[in-house]
Amino acid sequence: MKRITPILLLMFCSSFTQAQHITPKPQKITLNEGPSFTLNNEVIIEYNQNSLKELSILLSGSIKQATKLSLAPIGPNKSEKKKISLVLVKQDQTKDFNKEAYTLEVKKTGVVITSADQAGIFNGISSLMQLIPVSTDGKALEAWDIPAVQISDKPAFKWRGVMLDPARYFMTKEYVLRYLDMMAMHKLNVLHWHLIDDCGWRIEIKKYPKLTEVGAWRGTGKNKHGGFYSQEDIKEIVAYAALRNIEIVPEIEIPAHTLSALAAYPHLGCNNTKFNVPTKHSISPEIYCVGKETTWEFLQNVMDEVVPLFPSKYIHVGGDEARYNRWKKCEHCQKVIKDNGLKNERELQGWATRRIAKYLEPKGKVVIGWEEILACGIERSTGIMTWHKYSTAIEAAKNGHPVVMSPVKHTYIDTPESKLPGEPPAATWTPPVTLSKAYNWDVIPKGLTAEQAKNILGPNTTLWNDRFLHNAKQLADKPGEGTTASEAYMDYLSLPRIAATAEVGWTPKANRDYSDFLKRMGTMYHRYIQKGYNFRLPTPELRVKRLADGKLSFSADSPVYNGELRYTLDGSEPTKESEILDKPVTASSKQSMKIATLIPYAKMRSLTYTYTAKGNKYAKYGAQIGEWKSAMVAGKTPREETFDATGLINKNGTYEITFVYTGGEFGLDVKGLKVVRNDVDLSAENKKVGFAGGSGVSKHIVKIDNYQTGASFKIKANICGDLGSDSNGVVMIKRLK
Ligand SMILES: [Zn+2]
Repeated sequence: MKRITPILLLMFCSSFTQAQHITPKPQKITLNEGPSFTLNNEVIIEYNQNSLKELSILLSGSIKQATKLSLAPIGPNKSEKKKISLVLVKQDQTKDFNKEAYTLEVKKTGVVITSADQAGIFNGISSLMQLIPVSTDGKALEAWDIPAVQISDKPAFKWRGVMLDPARYFMTKEYVLRYLDMMAMHKLNVLHWHLIDDCGWRIEIKKYPKLTEVGAWRGTGKNKHGGFYSQEDIKEIVAYAALRNIEIVPEIEIPAHTLSALAAYPHLGCNNTKFNVPTKHSISPEIYCVGKETTWEFLQNVMDEVVPLFPSKYIHVGGDEARYNRWKKCEHCQKVIKDNGLKNERELQGWATRRIAKYLEPKGKVVIGWEEILACGIERSTGIMTWHKYSTAIEAAKNGHPVVMSPVKHTYIDTPESKLPGEPPAATWTPPVTLSKAYNWDVIPKGLTAEQAKNILGPNTTLWNDRFLHNAKQLADKPGEGTTASEAYMDYLSLPRIAATAEVGWTPKANRDYSDFLKRMGTMYHRYIQKGYNFRLPTPELRVKRLADGKLSFSADSPVYNGELRYTLDGSEPTKESEILDKPVTASSKQSMKIATLIPYAKMRSLTYTYTAKGNKYAKYGAQIGEWKSAMVAGKTPREETFDATGLINKNGTYEITFVYTGGEFGLDVKGLKVVRNDVDLSAENKKVGFAGGSGVSKHIVKIDNYQTGASFKIKANICGDLGSDSNGVVMIKRLK
């Protein structure tokens, strides 16, 4: 068993490294010659204006949490003591003004954070906290030396957001506050708060008490779930966020995703039908009737209570996934279409969006909605949040709409980070958003001029909670102390991917470098441990090289400082007793390796990454959905075997399923197969009989034309050995078109 050498440890802890380990990466850091600044109980926090008092208390509290040192925050003074100074300065606000910009200087004699606005002072504090050393081995540090640096910094984008979805699964006020701390640590500055959906209404509206008495709860008995935020809760959350430079943009969905409101007040729908708050996720045809004035009275009254609670410029009105079935048959809705010369129901949605935007405009609010509203015809001032089609971002930005970028492929962190065994149940309708995908994208879509690109406000990552409706049993809260299961789950999906979003939004594209980001995260993970966040510890990025003599060489770097990479070559799961990979390991040409990252002091272990030497040659047939082994092939009698294609069947299209023989005395007969969606047979059936043996493969085509978001897809195949049961192989799937 090998240990990391002391020299390497020293390197990890040196001030040079630490100074460069701020995430998101600042625009400019200069390492100053000379000694560092030593934090101790003698140091005071000084602020030059009373408006900074709360921030200086916040800084003092953060330092105490990290170091146990107590630094007194005091107002302007001429003390000779060593200080951390928060300094608000006057600045010409007419040109190139960015309220989030700050400078941070660390000298032996003191630390000075300067900005023209509290927002910038907060960002300086956030950077300073990442200059304070953190233990990477669990042992208490003895000295708190902050490296001498000069930082000049500002964000690339003004909107750096995260969407939370308490509508689908309620998050307590305490967890929202904790999440705001997580965001603030990464200088994320917008919480897009999805407060309303079919399965739950989460904001207290005093004029309509049933919204929360009825609409905030679903299910019965021990399956009853729900909750809501009182207006007092919201005031507390908004103030907590504001001090941390986070603006909260509430999402009040109109007209769809509103069954929770219709359950409380049936007259808001076209047919006055009574509903229950649904316990399952689906896209409901039930939406607000926008043809009735009583609905408008309701919407305006709701907004009258929402507006004073949120100082944000924007109010999100959803607008996505509206089905028009009810509007088509509603005399009120059809009358509005006719009276206003509208062409169809989509234009009616545009009319409704314009109407709510006009209502909010005199109150100083701007409406933003999902990309679907662009095609409905909306005011130019209305913002667009692109999630699916980049073309909507381009069109909107060209036409002068403010645009927020939330592309599924890079920001939907309700997906898992990988397909490795052991990932928690997460969204499968789209491929995993790996940390690399969360990091490597350009917020500005191609095809915009520099002037048009200014309309792109920034990135927004989304943590949807509808998975709690699909996998309620696995994800539900367990009673007990401390962090609940659901909160640990939401932490896990968020970290470290929101760190990637933060850097995408903060650091100009030209200054971003994924490998440099990963290095800095190596320190950040220890800060997460210090704060008790449940993050996903990355698996090692294994490098496999074929040497001249045909042998394989395995090497990898630990994704975390002071982490251990433990591996096995015998197919067993790596444990804390397994060999350490700290230099290249040579193995035979067909050798497989299992490897994991461990942080011993935190008792953390990543998922296992498995390198399978033989796997690569079947990649042309797509992704593996299973294998057959002698044990499951029952001689010559066909029997049904199930292969899980969930997540690999991820849209309508034609799929090819291939059986590839890999070994054994006999080949495999495939006597037809079918696709099963959520345990229901689909018409996608292929009765073709095939044979996989020798170098021959058995290919089967199925057509999926009724794909459903979030559904599981399984392939059930009738298989048997052609002459006996000694047969082995893999089953692969590939989408053809
Ligand atoms: Zn109607």
